Amino acid sequence: TKNGHSSTYEIYDEKMHKRELYEAMLIDSIGDALNENQFKLVFQPKYNILGEKPKLSSAEVLIRWQHPDFGDVRPDFFIPLFEENGLIRQLDRYVWREAAKQIRIWRDEFGYTIPVSVNVSRVDIFDLDFLSYLKQIVEENGIETKDLHLEITETAYTDNVDQIVGVVKELQKAGFMVEMDDFGKGYSSFNMLTTLPLDALKLDIGFIKDIAENNKEMNLLDCILKIAKLLNLTVIAEGVENAKQYLLLKNAGCDEIQGYYFSKPLDSGAFESLLQQKAI
Ligand code: C2E
Ligand code: MG
Ligand code: MG
Ligand code: MG
Repeated sequence: TKNGHSSTYEIYDEKMHKRELYEAMLIDSIGDALNENQFKLVFQPKYNILGEKPKLSSAEVLIRWQHPDFGDVRPDFFIPLFEENGLIRQLDRYVWREAAKQIRIWRDEFGYTIPVSVNVSRVDIFDLDFLSYLKQIVEENGIETKDLHLEITETAYTDNVDQIVGVVKELQKAGFMVEMDDFGKGYSSFNMLTTLPLDALKLDIGFIKDIAENNKEMNLLDCILKIAKLLNLTVIAEGVENAKQYLLLKNAGCDEIQGYYFSKPLDSGAFESLLQQKAI
């Protein structure tokens, strides 16, 4: 009925309005959030699985936001929002700097370097001082460029291909390790793989999810691993949640894995305990 329709729209409008308000409030609070240290870094281990036993190889930094009014806000929600508004630059730079500090702290504490990877948004790459900022934080903390790995999400490579190729080449020349994040999630063009001087491919969780149940998925994964080997790329599988997936990946020659099966993202203290144990 006519009536039914209009009330549906009203509810819809109200919902939209609430979401917009919420987004506006989040955008408004990023300054305070940075000043008041509401953002926390967590570290998810990556394991090298080429040897007999899995070996802790590095960590990925993931951001967490504990908002005073809204509680935990998920990165999946606020990262795209901040990307739209350009606010991501400020936030990512904060994360990268903290990551560089942490690399130094752990090196001093343990006597060896545990490489850390940071996420790089599509938006960050086009900043004129992107590379110089990275070099600066590396220098400030007395670490090496090869210890800071950059995870650039797959979708980034689809816009402005020439410019991206230029940036990635410069990153590489400076010694940073570049990983393509979320490979296989979007329109990943295989062409990009040969055009870009990448160090590693991170296979999207969507790729891993069904390998244990579905032969086709497993065959596809096998092919990608073969291509990656030909191109001299390290392959990291993310979102590994069970033993079956782990063993399939290991047998297929995947280099590294990350996922809840081995470890959830940990706060710096918990990650340190892991380094102390050196159990795996
Ligand atoms: P991502 O970089 O692809 O990170 C992987 C996401 O999968 C993380 O979600 C991680 O917690 C989650 N994950 C890890 N293992 C498993 C697993 O076994 N199963 C499942 N279901 N999930 C797993 P998170 O922390 O919520 O981050 C989501 C996305 O937000 C990240 O995806 C990344 O694109 C973005 N992000 C996080 N931190 C930052 C940051 O500091 N800067 C930027 N630009 N983006 C960030
Ligand atoms: Mg990532
Ligand atoms: Mg990913
Ligand atoms: Mg992602």
